[in-house]
Amino acid sequence: MASPEIHAKLSASGAKRWLGCPPSVRMEEGFSDKSSVYAEEGTVAHSLSELKLKYETGKMTKTIYNKRFARFKEKHSDYYNAAMDDYTDEYVAVVLEHYHALENPVIELEVKVDFSEWVPGGFGTSDVVITSDKLIEVIDLKYGKGIPVSAENNPQIMLYGLGAYAAYDMIYDFETVRMTIVQPRLGDISTFEISVPDLLQWANDYVRPRAQMAEEGKGEFFPSEDTCQWCKAKAICKARADKNLEIVQYEFADPNELTPEDIADILGRAKEIENWLKDIKDSSLEKVRDHGLHIPGWKLVEGRSNRKITDTDAVTLLLDAEGYTEEQIMKPESLRSLTDLEKLVGKKNLSALVGPYIVKPEGAPVLVVETDKRPELSSLDSANEDFEGVNEDG
Ligand code: SF4
Repeated sequence: MASPEIHAKLSASGAKRWLGCPPSVRMEEGFSDKSSVYAEEGTVAHSLSELKLKYETGKMTKTIYNKRFARFKEKHSDYYNAAMDDYTDEYVAVVLEHYHALENPVIELEVKVDFSEWVPGGFGTSDVVITSDKLIEVIDLKYGKGIPVSAENNPQIMLYGLGAYAAYDMIYDFETVRMTIVQPRLGDISTFEISVPDLLQWANDYVRPRAQMAEEGKGEFFPSEDTCQWCKAKAICKARADKNLEIVQYEFADPNELTPEDIADILGRAKEIENWLKDIKDSSLEKVRDHGLHIPGWKLVEGRSNRKITDTDAVTLLLDAEGYTEEQIMKPESLRSLTDLEKLVGKKNLSALVGPYIVKPEGAPVLVVETDKRPELSSLDSANEDFEGVNEDG
């Protein structure tokens, strides 16, 4: 029997990593968890959403809700703001829409889901579980504003779905498990449905053996952007380094010039190589600065810094006394950023008040992989060809 510490590491949130790269669990041993302000903000947004959903689904009276909401705002004044209120309203609206669309639905919040039948010690908390006659749905709020996360074949939410299915299977006769991820700050909702037999096949044939390997520290390393991004060992892992250094030994077809195929290969690896270099730099700085590690040939020095004024009032008075005018020495006041204004006024309110004055300019062209969801822009050459074609025809 493995230690409880190892069991706790086979979490749903880390499933993409340990399913893809089972030995990462052993590699992560000894690294501590780091909390971030973003994680804390997310926890606050989850609590607020839960409170709102309790009220909206009749689990809490209006009086108690009002009292708790007032207490919540006071307790979480560091993170609570008008924008969080709007974003959690949007999330709650999605949950209620899904809830009311089902027949004979029952909704549970913050449900402990246990998938230990497939993953040793595997459990987690699902934000929302909705059960109905033939379908069970789990819904996950992601409050970050990084990148959209798809629910499709997403192991984290599939493990929640599996755990929820296992918990309610005795009472219901489900045919389908539906999983939804809501990211209100990105305006993104992603839903994935899978039949119960397909989910169980995934759990039995893929999850169970890989969880076993992960627990025993066995299996092949699998460095990739998906697996390494959140791995605590990402700055020391040899397999990741080997993978990223492969390009150095690359045998190009043409000895003198890169072909479009060579460039495609290099571009495909660029992001992960950039991430890897950054991870190595950040981690070595931290080890040398905070733990006294010596890296041969490297030393710690003071970085560049910008001069700054310590007392702006004193400087203003002195320059004023020298005859400089306010226009000369003061910057004109400027409006805060849209993000700050949304926090202050609320997303909906701000849009209602000044929506016509907010535009999203066209972004500069970027090169992305073909599978990216954004529509392809025509290149300058093909745009010119189109234009010439119009002239010829016209
Ligand atoms: S850094 Fe990547 S390859 Fe190395 S253990 Fe972690 S996930 Fe696996």
